[in-house]
Amino acid sequence: MASKSQHNAPKAKSPNGKAAPQGQWGRAWEVDWFSLASVIFLLLFAPFIVYYFIMACDQYSCSLTAPVLDIATGRASLADIWAKTPPVTAKAAQLYALWVSFQVLLYSWLPDFCHRFLPGYVGGVQEGAITPAGIVNKYEVNGLQAWLITHLLWFANAYLLSWFSPTIIFDNWIPLLWCANILGYAVSTFAMIKGYLFPTSAEDCKFTGNFFYNYMMGIEFNPRIGKWFDFKLFFNGRPGIVAWTLINLSFAAKQQELYGHVTNSMILVNVLQAIYVLDFFWNETWYLKTIDICHDHFGWYLGWGDCVWLPYLYTLQGLYLVYHPVQLSTPNALGILLLGLVGYYIFRMTNHQKDLFRRTDGRCLIWGKKPKAIECSYTSADGLKHHSKLLVSGFWGVARHFNYTGDLMGSLAYCLACGGGHLLPYFYIIYMTILLTHRCLRDEHRCANKYGRDWERYIAAVPYRLLPGIF
Ligand code: NDP
Repeated sequence: MASKSQHNAPKAKSPNGKAAPQGQWGRAWEVDWFSLASVIFLLLFAPFIVYYFIMACDQYSCSLTAPVLDIATGRASLADIWAKTPPVTAKAAQLYALWVSFQVLLYSWLPDFCHRFLPGYVGGVQEGAITPAGIVNKYEVNGLQAWLITHLLWFANAYLLSWFSPTIIFDNWIPLLWCANILGYAVSTFAMIKGYLFPTSAEDCKFTGNFFYNYMMGIEFNPRIGKWFDFKLFFNGRPGIVAWTLINLSFAAKQQELYGHVTNSMILVNVLQAIYVLDFFWNETWYLKTIDICHDHFGWYLGWGDCVWLPYLYTLQGLYLVYHPVQLSTPNALGILLLGLVGYYIFRMTNHQKDLFRRTDGRCLIWGKKPKAIECSYTSADGLKHHSKLLVSGFWGVARHFNYTGDLMGSLAYCLACGGGHLLPYFYIIYMTILLTHRCLRDEHRCANKYGRDWERYIAAVPYRLLPGIF
């Protein structure tokens, strides 16, 4: 690839119909029929899937087949099920508005102080990766602080203040679902309009000419309001991920209220998922370099997904355990804990190795040795040639996405904690397997476009994606 050359770079259509040169990464420029069909399928069915799971727990003790059987045999109609579904309430609306406003406040108004006293924690103002248009955004990284303050308040309320019951989230779960949907649709629609009318960075916008694809996958790369309110960082991390651990705590409180004790399975799910969430906030600066922030545009996929899909479907294990208080035998509980911790270790170490390698430009040790790498280059939309390196040591030499393998092991552990009674809590591992396999293929397609022959050399050096010898 020649320096400054743009002849191979795909052209994106701007709203005025003119073709604009783009960098060689980011989401698609043109929509094939399969992508369009998938987008329309998800737009139509994803909200229904979330509703179905939550309703199945509320009305059928988490059985996924019982609602279908009831309808098929005439014991219940869709109208009966809908009539039994709690509607949105003023209380839920107030609670949700308060929750989101509080998170906006913590995000926008409280500069990070954790990095001043926590050794090893990187927070405060940090730079993201270079965008396709060659822009480097600055971010106020203060997610750990927001998480800590929110949870301190939660525990202060539960043990001292008693302003509200810790079961409040469980008790309003379906009314809150409608509020989350309203926010998810509102923010995605706003992001779409903003992309057309007043984008933060016009050079980083992509228009495929297809309304549904643009709405789902987003137009703007890094939409912002003002200098600091970054949609991707806010919606990805909060309100969804800060809420994740609170939702689990509320489910545990409900178990306590209903059965007088909290099961070891509920504790396992709470602990393993809290490690994952805390890891996310501890490494929020690293997160600025992941696919969500570096490559995905902000549309319904991220906006609605973070508001609805994530808090409702990633927490299904805890919800299930409220209805089915599984008590695991000690060997099973220990086995699941071990699987979860080993998965977490692989996930974290793999991500850490890449981060360390990229941060130090290879001047580091991985597994006690100087790392091996493949030198590569790519061109950004401004025509400038950049250099990069692909690590082939450590976990990155075992498989090309071993971080996903660790993530999948951890995900399996959450599901196994729920025992074998029902399929519903296993949704997470099924979904994560599809998500991460698809992500793997999507990322490799993008990297192949970005790095060309250099990527082929990497594939030759590390032939497997997730599991050596298998895939
Ligand atoms: P990665 O962190 O694996 O990032 C992929 C990028 O890393 C590539 O696009 C490429 O970017 C660069 N890269 C690829 N191979 C190498 C290499 N050998 N050496 C150096 N750089 C390389 O992927 P994600 O952002 O998808 O995931 C981050 C973490 O988040 C993962 O652990 C994943 O499991 C987790 N995750 C969890 C989700 C959840 O819902 N729970 C959802 C998504 C992710 P470049 O262009 O910079 O070269």
